[in-house]
Amino acid sequence: MPVKLPFESVKISPDEKLQDKQDTIELIAQLEDLAKRHPKKGAVRKFTNLIADTNTPINSWKFNEWDYASKKVSLPTYARGLFTKGNEIICRGYNKFYNVNEFLEVSEDQLKKNTTGPYTLTVKSNGCIVFISGLEDGTLVVCSKHSTGVRDDIQKNHAMAAQRALESQLIGIGQGKERLASALYELKLTAVAEFCDDSFEEHVLEYKNDRAGLYLHGLNFNTPRFRTYPMKKVNEFGQMFGFKETKSRRFETFEELIKYLSNVANEGTFEGEEVEGFVVRCYRTENHEDFFFKYKFEEPYLLYRELREVTKQFIRGGPQNVHFGKHKLICMDYLKYIMPLMHDNQELREQYLDNQGIIELRKKYFVARGKTGLEVIDEEVSMAKLEDEMRLLSFGDSQICKYAVVTVATIGCGKTTTSLALANLFPNIIGHIQNDNIRRPVGNKLVAGALEILINRPIVILDKNDHKFIERKQIFDDFDQLNEVIPTSKLKFICLNFLRNRPQEDKDLWNITRERILERGDNHQTIKAAGKGITKAEKIIQGFIKRFQPVDPGREPDSKFDLIINLDVTSPDSSYANVKTVVDNLISFASDLNLTRPTEEQFQEAFKSALDYKPSVNKIVHSKGGPRAPAYFGIVIPNAEELQNKVVKLIHSTGLDWKTYETLKNTDRLLNDLHVTIIHYKSRKTNGESRALWNMYVKQVFFDDLTKIDENSPKIKGCSIPLPSSPTADIKLEKLCSNDKLVCIKVSVLGLYHADGREIHLTAGNKFPHVTLGTISSEIKSVESNNLLNDICEFHATNGIQCLDFEDSEENTLKGLPIFAYY
Ligand code: GDP
Ligand code: MG
Repeated sequence: MPVKLPFESVKISPDEKLQDKQDTIELIAQLEDLAKRHPKKGAVRKFTNLIADTNTPINSWKFNEWDYASKKVSLPTYARGLFTKGNEIICRGYNKFYNVNEFLEVSEDQLKKNTTGPYTLTVKSNGCIVFISGLEDGTLVVCSKHSTGVRDDIQKNHAMAAQRALESQLIGIGQGKERLASALYELKLTAVAEFCDDSFEEHVLEYKNDRAGLYLHGLNFNTPRFRTYPMKKVNEFGQMFGFKETKSRRFETFEELIKYLSNVANEGTFEGEEVEGFVVRCYRTENHEDFFFKYKFEEPYLLYRELREVTKQFIRGGPQNVHFGKHKLICMDYLKYIMPLMHDNQELREQYLDNQGIIELRKKYFVARGKTGLEVIDEEVSMAKLEDEMRLLSFGDSQICKYAVVTVATIGCGKTTTSLALANLFPNIIGHIQNDNIRRPVGNKLVAGALEILINRPIVILDKNDHKFIERKQIFDDFDQLNEVIPTSKLKFICLNFLRNRPQEDKDLWNITRERILERGDNHQTIKAAGKGITKAEKIIQGFIKRFQPVDPGREPDSKFDLIINLDVTSPDSSYANVKTVVDNLISFASDLNLTRPTEEQFQEAFKSALDYKPSVNKIVHSKGGPRAPAYFGIVIPNAEELQNKVVKLIHSTGLDWKTYETLKNTDRLLNDLHVTIIHYKSRKTNGESRALWNMYVKQVFFDDLTKIDENSPKIKGCSIPLPSSPTADIKLEKLCSNDKLVCIKVSVLGLYHADGREIHLTAGNKFPHVTLGTISSEIKSVESNNLLNDICEFHATNGIQCLDFEDSEENTLKGLPIFAYY
């Protein structure tokens, strides 16, 4: 029976209807196909369950969060939340949308250019999203983002809780649920609402008593293309069925909208009420399709979340277990306040872990402080600055400057020798960082490291050739970008100019540096000049000389140096005199440091030990006696502890018991050396494709990168120590999984890179790349993780299995992890 609605539905022509139908069939076929490709990029996870109170199966389709934003993959739909039955869409979420400035595409400039008004600003409610729809027979369908119906494998069923809330809402206004279901079925719409109820689950904002309920914020067409009803109609519909209203406000132009947002950002409120942010609805200019973006207030919500996390950590593991984030000082202050309240109150602690009473406790604290969240944050900023400054500037003496010493030279000019001698002479004053010691990709790590040294010492030498303008410019740029604590006026740049003239014409320079490098032999991180290496080394030295661009104080970037110290490489023993020249210059230029000139003996001693220096990191070593093929390739997780912390944090966030994990911890069976196997040589045997892939790995990774590392090196065999220079990988933590035998993390490999940074275009050979965290006995081998993941991902097994998704965040993306070969 058609349902009469107090408003006119948006009309669709019969042609459009037909098109939508065809598109839907095509989309579902594509999804079915993609689901088989799991877990590759762009794949989709299909989950089938029964619609509550029926025997009707319904499929949920879930993409990897990060694929929505990926430029490399194109998804068949960008709907976040999609449920189908047969060849029909039952529920359709909004197209995934982003925060303003989260990506270039949603920068203010781009939005202004590519969207058209009117702009409808709607208040973002803070709960969990639910999709509501109806079947022909009047059955109501209520889904959370990716789930619907009764399930026995999850602890909290958001869909069912929302369904109950919806039912009592309808009873409250004397409406049958069939009526809502039929209306949505007739109109082919999904009602999108936010389920906010602190008695079910607390989020960041408070939703108690009257405020608790379902906030309707959208009506989407159940079609592949994203089309949604205007806000006015959404509210009319909402009123009819007793939903809570989503407040909105309309702006004709982008300028008006932005002006409003920047005004309101300071208070973080809408019509006097605390809100987390807004969702803005508008249209894509090119095709007039519906387009959304959001605008979220960072604070005080970030602080609120942090307070919640530290409290949970504290309850679970006491003070030692607390990891602070951005708001360390406030969190400490807050913990001090809540500790006595928590102490004798087990109920409070238990409820808190079940997401109850979080807001109450936070409010108590702010009341005790007599300030709002934002006010306390304001205070913290000034405290933090003060702390940094005190650490940086040796107390009370505001005259002290920081000096970044930048070398400009070619290979063998004595940069390292000179720097080491200087650091030997003034160990507490001069720090030294060598570019050659930094694992590639180097990026801005040299400057980042230098800044770190500057926290404790006033001078740092950045030991690198910097033989071209662009290299020098990069140093200045990196300082600009990374330096957050040293006042610009107190940061001075000094250039150690080893080569004054055009080195291309300087025969002596060539002879001296070539001779030195020959002599140095293999005592260098990358340039190996012993034996046959000399021709290669000569080429490298020549290359630097050829490209050298002399320091030119009359132009940028060299004009930015506050002092240029001219040095000479005119004799084989030039470095000794250079050390003295630098010291003399520093004494007069960095007068605030009151350096005393060392004695002749001190100079000599410092120089001698600089000459004896042998690098302790080895980037590339010749392979001896030809390479052996490895047993497998893997990715090292250099910091096992950090990963364990993430796991613990994730587990704690759910409040569930993870027995196997506990057992591993208590029996000391958590592995210390963690890795992800990328491909095993045994995989050659499965089929021709795998063999080809293995061979490509051997060729591209092993011969191009890894054979250059000494295969006898213990660093390769035990994977606890990261290799100084190796191919690298970026991975993402996806899912923590366990059964009664083991615990592992399913990861996805985002990219593989050669040691020089070029991408390796190979897929992982392992179907479910993972990190095994530990097995309960030595009988159970790590490879069993594959079986567990197969059960979970292929068969959706749930029996005796625990599974938990990692949040899709930067923090859970691990970049630049070394790749190793295992023999
Ligand atoms: P860099 O490439 O500019 O860092 O040059 P190094 O400081 O590593 O110098 C290259 C080699 O020459 C090293 O083996 C040094 O020990 C050696 N060397 C550098 N300066 C002198 C010097 O003044 N006298 C002597 N005898 N050896 C030097
Ligand atoms: Mg050097």
